[in-house]
Amino acid sequence: MGNHEQKDAFMKKNRRQFIYESFTGLVTMTMGPYVLGQNHVFASRSYDSKPWIELSKAAYLHNALQIGKMVGGKPIIAVLKNNAYGLGDVEVAKILEGSSSIIAVALVKDERAIALRAAGFSKPILLMGDFDSVSANTLLEREITLSIFSKTSFKKINELALGTNKAIKVALYIDTGLGRMGIPFKEAVHIGEEVAKNNRLSITHTFSTLTTPKDFAEQQIKRFEEIIRKLNGKGITTGIKHLAPSLSLLDLPKSHQEAVRPGILLHGSFPLVNRPEAKNYPLQVPYRLKAPIIRLEKLKTGDTIGFSRFYKVEQDEWIATLPLGWADGYDSGAENGAMVLLAGELYPVVNVNASHTNVSLGSKTKIRVGDVATLIGPERPEITPEGFGKLIKGHNYLQINYKESIPKKTYESF
Ligand SMILES: *Cc1c(COP(=O)(O)O)cnc(C)c1O
Repeated sequence: MGNHEQKDAFMKKNRRQFIYESFTGLVTMTMGPYVLGQNHVFASRSYDSKPWIELSKAAYLHNALQIGKMVGGKPIIAVLKNNAYGLGDVEVAKILEGSSSIIAVALVKDERAIALRAAGFSKPILLMGDFDSVSANTLLEREITLSIFSKTSFKKINELALGTNKAIKVALYIDTGLGRMGIPFKEAVHIGEEVAKNNRLSITHTFSTLTTPKDFAEQQIKRFEEIIRKLNGKGITTGIKHLAPSLSLLDLPKSHQEAVRPGILLHGSFPLVNRPEAKNYPLQVPYRLKAPIIRLEKLKTGDTIGFSRFYKVEQDEWIATLPLGWADGYDSGAENGAMVLLAGELYPVVNVNASHTNVSLGSKTKIRVGDVATLIGPERPEITPEGFGKLIKGHNYLQINYKESIPKKTYESF
């Protein structure tokens, strides 16, 4: 578009807007506040201007109970890494503190472990990742279990032990084949013995992570159990033993060991779509992603939305703007078929930009600026995490990118 054209379009739009606004202003003047309430342009009530996430205590506790049933009552270590997959690690941890089946939480970042303690979380915390030396003393004071996941991390924790007379809780993190983290399984017995020699270190967990192919996961379980057997045979206590993320705990009962370590199941999603277990162990969607409409305009045939003019208006239609986009972690694939719930009806998402998302409301609407859209929630199959994932042909770990800056509100239930 040339400069002149751009200016032209701007003037045209402004003129249109001016006429519309003076018209609605006139109506408001002559017909009073009743019309004001019905009016799209001058909605007078105050409304929130940012997206937020709602969490349901009852649904999280229900999911923890269901997972307990899936694994015959074995205890659960809740994996709340990556800010509880975007839903708020502190908020979710505080909810899960009330579940008797959850014996601990596992995290990857040292500062998040410290943040949970600062928020008053009192169950055991397992740090599966590394830690900065400046955090070391705080981690010890707050009784956070540190993972020994390599020779160098063992050395680091050994040095830490020299400076304290308190027993340090440690976990032996063994790589049985994931190849990502952990002591290579062939070195695990040797390092386990070395750890046991240091009487300031107390092994409270021994764990590994299984891969998804079943036959290889079975081999990993054998490797793990052999290490445990050898260590126990030398009189070394190995603490609580665990292996299974969500998929393994569903696929392989042998993976249950002494505890299971789910993440995604707690948030109400199975790790893959269409899992048969969903019937026998129905999970609840424990969160909603919501946003108010901050702008509502009737676009004309031929108008377009977005920098790339991604969406073309075929027939005059009301377009609502929501104040969140892919920079907030909302999946940009939503513009390819996702729906949002507004006043009991589903409407299609037609455009996702970095900070804004547009929804088409059709040629007539009673929706107003300030009305709140539910983008994800339990109300309709189309907007559950799994339903959303199916509509955009995405995966079930969709919320993982939600930004920490999105405020959280916890409810008893919903
Ligand atoms: C992420 C993770 C889990 C949980 O995975 P889900 O698929 O969400 O259940 C468990 N253990 C480890 C080591 C992990 O990194």
